[in-house]
Amino acid sequence: MVEHPANALQQDPLSHGLWARSAPEPPSSGTLTGTVKADVMVVGAGYTGLAAALRLAEKGASVAVLEARAIGYGASGRNVGLVNAGLWLSPREVIDRLGNDYGERLMKHLGEAPGHVFDLIESHDMQCEANRAGTLHCAHSRRGFEDLQQRARDWSSLAAPVELLDGSDAAVKIGSDYFHGALLDHRAGTVQPLGYARGLGRAAVRAGARLFTRSAVRSLSRRNGEWLAETDGGSATAPSVIIATNAYTTTVAPIDACVVPFSFFQLATRPLPPRIQRTILQEGHGAWDTAKILTSLRLDAAGRLIVGSIGKLDRRHRGIHANWMRRKIRQVFPQLGGVSFEHGWDGMIATTRDHLPRLSQPDHGAIAAYGYNGRGIGTGTVFGHAMADYILNRDIDDLPLPLTAMSRESMRLFRALGIELGARAYHFVSNRF
Ligand SMILES: Cc1cc2nc3c(=O)[nH]c(=O)nc-3n(C[C@H](O)[C@H](O)[C@H](O)COP(=O)(O)OP(=O)(O)OC[C@H]3O[C@@H](n4cnc5c(N)ncnc54)[C@H](O)[C@@H]3O)c2cc1C
Repeated sequence: MVEHPANALQQDPLSHGLWARSAPEPPSSGTLTGTVKADVMVVGAGYTGLAAALRLAEKGASVAVLEARAIGYGASGRNVGLVNAGLWLSPREVIDRLGNDYGERLMKHLGEAPGHVFDLIESHDMQCEANRAGTLHCAHSRRGFEDLQQRARDWSSLAAPVELLDGSDAAVKIGSDYFHGALLDHRAGTVQPLGYARGLGRAAVRAGARLFTRSAVRSLSRRNGEWLAETDGGSATAPSVIIATNAYTTTVAPIDACVVPFSFFQLATRPLPPRIQRTILQEGHGAWDTAKILTSLRLDAAGRLIVGSIGKLDRRHRGIHANWMRRKIRQVFPQLGGVSFEHGWDGMIATTRDHLPRLSQPDHGAIAAYGYNGRGIGTGTVFGHAMADYILNRDIDDLPLPLTAMSRESMRLFRALGIELGARAYHFVSNRF
């Protein structure tokens, strides 16, 4: 095993931005050299892979995690940090698409997901700015408020603790009268996302998992009843493999062909003066709105305002997105005056055509989870645990979804480009006049 510097993510400020600077150090790890044998091999060290590794190691299985770059290198180290229940789809849409059996099962698993995340954080003492204040889904229009009313009815019929706020109640909690109301979900909250990924990694290592970073799997094949993963420096074998590479997949299995990726960026101000901070999301809620090209809003522990939307912060288009965001902040939080951003970064979200996540069995002894459609903190944690339990018990009832064949997304790059161009055009023209 070759040791390497702990905080490699600091090297590219556009990849993990603020999160690389404010997360605690990762547990020490090294690159795979030689040959390693395990009961289960996990490819990818984001929430999915690490939650699975932790569960397996706690149950006494020997686990080897192979990560191409670093813990949380993918979406897990870059996201907004909203620990939400459910999916982007409303509960009713999920049940309509999956049928009563799996629809209700999935909503139960994902309704309880924030609780699992926060319990894990507490029981393993993870340093990740966890805040269980709840999240606010904010109506950007009258139509958006009608959507929230329907979601409130759906969740209430599942006995979930959600509260529909009218415009004036929402204005107090958000610190802005821009929105038409909001749905407050008391199960939800926020984390420092890279901190949570590193916390899971540390807990998995403590439980006995072996974690290899800078160990990209170049080929994954099945030989003599075992899976063989080959990296540049070595190889690992195990009877079972969990593939948890999602939107950041390189080389293993055709998962990259089964999702449509799009970029989401975030910008963070410097810590706001306390008198202004007290006027914005004063109870510590994380928030996002109902617009198709949505905006996310939250504060971090130091009182920075962190805002996000669809788009990539590449050199040519960074200005379009950042200028739009400045205009948007002026509309939503006029008390801030002009803002400058201290940090900016982006990441890729894996979507699917029906907006549902997937659990697939590419071959005997292999299982893969992907396509969380922007809801991966709870989903990744819950799916990681469920895949671990399934490998240990071989009980299909441990899984929140049926195991499906890998299904490729048609015209994926064309669709991905469409989302990117649409967001860019919208950000170029909107809120100017
Ligand atoms: C900007 C952004 C904002 C988001 N906001 C939220 C939010 O607020 N709330 C929420 O719930 N979800 C959010 N999401 C979604 C969430 O972050 C993801 O769904 C979740 O992190 C996926 O976790 P994962 O472990 O499945 O995949 P990832 O975290 O992407 O991990 C996959 C890992 O696999 C590794 N890998 C790939 N190929 C190989 C290989 N060949 N060999 C070894 N390793 C490999 C990658 O390096 C990567 O580290 C957001 C996503 C983004 C990008």
